[in-house]
Amino acid sequence: MSIDVERRPELENFPENPFKGEHIISVDQFTPEKIDYLFGVTRKMREIVETIGSTDSLKGKILANLFYEPSTRTSSSFTAAMERLGGSVIPINEVRYSSVAKGENLPDTVRTLACYADIIVLRHPEVDSAKLAAEYSPVPVVNAGDGPGEHPTQALLDLFTIVDKFGRVEGKHIVMVGDLKYGRTVHSLAKLLSIQDRVKITFVSPKDLKMPPEILFRLREKRIDFQEVEELESTISSADVIYLTRVQKERFENQEEYEKVKNKYVVTPETLTLAKKEMILMHPLPRIYELSMAVDKDPRAVYIREQMRNGMYVRMALLAAVLGKV
Ligand code: ASP
Repeated sequence: MSIDVERRPELENFPENPFKGEHIISVDQFTPEKIDYLFGVTRKMREIVETIGSTDSLKGKILANLFYEPSTRTSSSFTAAMERLGGSVIPINEVRYSSVAKGENLPDTVRTLACYADIIVLRHPEVDSAKLAAEYSPVPVVNAGDGPGEHPTQALLDLFTIVDKFGRVEGKHIVMVGDLKYGRTVHSLAKLLSIQDRVKITFVSPKDLKMPPEILFRLREKRIDFQEVEELESTISSADVIYLTRVQKERFENQEEYEKVKNKYVVTPETLTLAKKEMILMHPLPRIYELSMAVDKDPRAVYIREQMRNGMYVRMALLAAVLGKV
């Protein structure tokens, strides 16, 4: 698809947009066809950003960015995505300065923002908060992380990064490492991989931070080849993707428990000497103890540039699709 720089690209030649008007709550909503569709639009968005920077497809549209938990990448990439599509953003990054601090409940906050905005992006510390918000919101709600539940747009950008690197995910060995119990990004990614063909997954975690049983049940149901191990070294040489995660300190009731596991896995340049030349190392970020900065210059490390920029392209595609502009 080429871009008419003179005429500002209209994103209207994608047939049958399956996302129009949808709330985006869980990766359970996605099918391989919907993902293909979205990734097609994502590539187009990348082309637009790389050639002309922005477009005005969402001119006049407003996004409310409602964040009850800290965020750097998700919040700013949604803002950048909306602005590169010509729309604007109501940023509520500090709910303590909004009526939430006075005790306002989520349904009321969401219904308020829906009076002003065309779409609401929500990050909240409770599982199922996005689902609750969607029940009350007359405009689409996008889940930007519901506590230790899910993070569907992160999973989309993660899968896009893998597909973009290898051309496909089929036949690849994905190794997820770290806090698989509380890490919402790995929950969504594992579920999203369960609808792909012929992937192999290894979950590497301490005993107390294993992938939740309901996700493992799903993988079994879908006949995904997976294993759970505690030790990282033996899986490195066969990994096509290592997806490293931070131990989610804020989810621990007992900080001593956190201290015990926070340093369990640390990836350094030496770790990568065991890995394939063509593999990629991913991380949703932020990193704390588990990933040495010395790894950043390794060409296999894709978390700084690729993964983060892909986050903006995927979110541009999703906003345009949900708002019916593709
Ligand atoms: N930024 C990711 C999230 O919001 C990962 C993390 O915080 O560790 O889930």
